[in-house]
Amino acid sequence: MEMLTIGAFAKACRLSPKALRLYDELELLRPARVDPETGYRYYAPEQLEQARLVAWLRRLGMPLAGIRRVRSLEPAAAAREIRAFWARVEAETATRRDLAAFLVDHLSNVPGSAPGNVPRKDTTMLELRYSALSDTGLVRPSNQDTAYAGTRVLAVADGFGPGGAPASAAAVEALKFLDREPLAAGRVLNLLEDAVQGATQAVRDVAGPADEDGTTLTAMVWTGSQLALVHIGDSRAYLLRDGGLFLITHDHTVVQSMIDEGRLTPEEATAHPQRSLLLKALPGTGSAPAPTPDLRLHDALAGDRYLLCSDGLSTVLPETAIRELLTSAPTPAEAAHALVAAANDSGGPDNVSCVVADVLTAGSGAAVQ
Ligand code: MN
Repeated sequence: MEMLTIGAFAKACRLSPKALRLYDELELLRPARVDPETGYRYYAPEQLEQARLVAWLRRLGMPLAGIRRVRSLEPAAAAREIRAFWARVEAETATRRDLAAFLVDHLSNVPGSAPGNVPRKDTTMLELRYSALSDTGLVRPSNQDTAYAGTRVLAVADGFGPGGAPASAAAVEALKFLDREPLAAGRVLNLLEDAVQGATQAVRDVAGPADEDGTTLTAMVWTGSQLALVHIGDSRAYLLRDGGLFLITHDHTVVQSMIDEGRLTPEEATAHPQRSLLLKALPGTGSAPAPTPDLRLHDALAGDRYLLCSDGLSTVLPETAIRELLTSAPTPAEAAHALVAAANDSGGPDNVSCVVADVLTAGSGAAVQ
């Protein structure tokens, strides 16, 4: 088959010679032959499709390494690679969308922030009633979870590695100052940032190397009408509202990302040997910049019941059982006890932690149970 000069090939694939030279330098598309005397590049006609694929992958925003990988794969594997790339883009966009929604929601509710801005919240005073419980379970030698509930902070952290216990304790400890701060409307963003930075640093200060030690952190900060959610790892937050149980966090696990990318079904995931392998967590010492937790602002309604739990509960009990136990327990303390007992009745393979909080109309019940 006849070779094409770079000019002829460029015309045929509607890319500029400059783009083709760039692709060559970036090792995205090598000419079929380079004349050793003149240095002229020659392309084979069957490279037309590859040139077009590279151009479109660049338009898609795929990084160079990804394009090289796709180019080296058979079509079916290349298709899977592109699907996985796009799922990661969407997950990233979803995190940014949540952050944007958080900011819009926050700024819409700062009183007097704009002339004529009508606060859309009614002025009903709400309060929290809460309980926290953490248990070693029946198999593990020690408890590396930390669970905490205070007037404003609800938190569950699941430490891992030899320094897992101090890591989870430090992450939660770093949030407790929020219980003592007056949460002025104009300071919520900075207080949350302080909390996230503080927890990240606290874990680094007490834990061992980042490739061994770290912790998850799922926390809610009560603002009086809303709950600010801070989340990293595979601990979870659920909302029980109007009889329905809703998972309001996204697991940062390798298996969940495989589900998101369409490589695994949720059914296959429950039996996956590496289902607890984390994609993100607060790392120990010596890591590159720590990944940032998800941040969300969640409107609370009177009658809501929230559950924060470690994976020692959510991987052991099906959601139907969690919903039934949460629904039938009269108080947060009874709910937390029932959930921990149920996990242990199922073998208690892992540390198990539960924080349960009810949102009540102010004055309708004791604050702490
Ligand atoms: Mn665990």
